[in-house]
Amino acid sequence: MHRFAGRRQFLKASAAALVAAPFLRPTQLFAQQDGYSVSDDPTLSTLIQTSVGGPSPASADVLTIRWLGCANHELAFRDQVVLLDAWYDRGPHNRPLGFAPQDVTRANLIINGHAHFDHIADIAAVARQTGAMVMGAPISIGYLRAQGLPDSQLLPTAGGEHFDFDGYTVDAILAHHSVLPTEILSKLGEVLGADSPPLTPAEQQQAAEIGARGLWDPKIITEGTIAYIFTFDNGFRLIYRNSAGPITDAERAIMSQVDSTDLAIVAYQGHVVADSQIAITLPIVQLYNPSIYLPTHHDTVAGFFIDQATEPLFMAVRDTLPAVRSVSPLYRTPVGIDMSTKQLLVA
Ligand SMILES: [Zn+2]
Repeated sequence: MHRFAGRRQFLKASAAALVAAPFLRPTQLFAQQDGYSVSDDPTLSTLIQTSVGGPSPASADVLTIRWLGCANHELAFRDQVVLLDAWYDRGPHNRPLGFAPQDVTRANLIINGHAHFDHIADIAAVARQTGAMVMGAPISIGYLRAQGLPDSQLLPTAGGEHFDFDGYTVDAILAHHSVLPTEILSKLGEVLGADSPPLTPAEQQQAAEIGARGLWDPKIITEGTIAYIFTFDNGFRLIYRNSAGPITDAERAIMSQVDSTDLAIVAYQGHVVADSQIAITLPIVQLYNPSIYLPTHHDTVAGFFIDQATEPLFMAVRDTLPAVRSVSPLYRTPVGIDMSTKQLLVA
């Protein structure tokens, strides 16, 4: 008990992010009497995310974020669950996430950044299971409608719309997908194929089926990629930008009014050379001017993308934007933020 009490004192004394070593035991969490710390929150003591039956945050101002591979995240806030993208059944040569799409039983809203399979593949199934509303570009919504989701569950946005939810709002912004030279992509695909064990016929079939759970419409690049700004009723602001493409006029326009965000979840994927990708991701982070930066999409997508080491990016963020704290959690590990004090805890 003393060990935890000591650490709590330190947490309260520091607004900076801390990395807590062991998971806290819930019985100890609620024993504390002398004020609330985000480390007390039940979501911070478990790898079981809220959407698969884990606890909800106990405090009205705690936002718990979990990275669920690729550009998938879960946001848990009060009694609500928001999923950012959903590609959970990922097939051969992608690391398993520790849960399956059918395990997701709870979500109020699913946000889709764009309609490529590695972002949208499991959204229809999860929306059916949970009854969640789904927001996305018209291209994404068209795909989900074709997958059988009723219009009553669909919130199309081409960017520019403002949506009100219980305790938070969402502003959708037309963004731009990453743009990569096709010769880099095809050469990388060849190298990845050569450096992995060959797929069995059954695995090939599985990979093809998963790859078909989305669209390859070229309009996704300019019309089908949406960024989202969440503004919570305590003033905390979060930006989700799931592809690292050129900054759009719409993004510049909203940030000329908003000025800063508290948490930016911005994609770091595409180029193989870190400096080339930093040159694209860093200006997006800079535009959104956050206190905390979480990379996204920096994960293997078998046959397409490699794992991106985050250190070169984080060093560039530290050197360019010294006030920004960069954090890269593991799959399902909770990141808790007290949105009123901005206290951050990575469990
Ligand atoms: Zn994409």
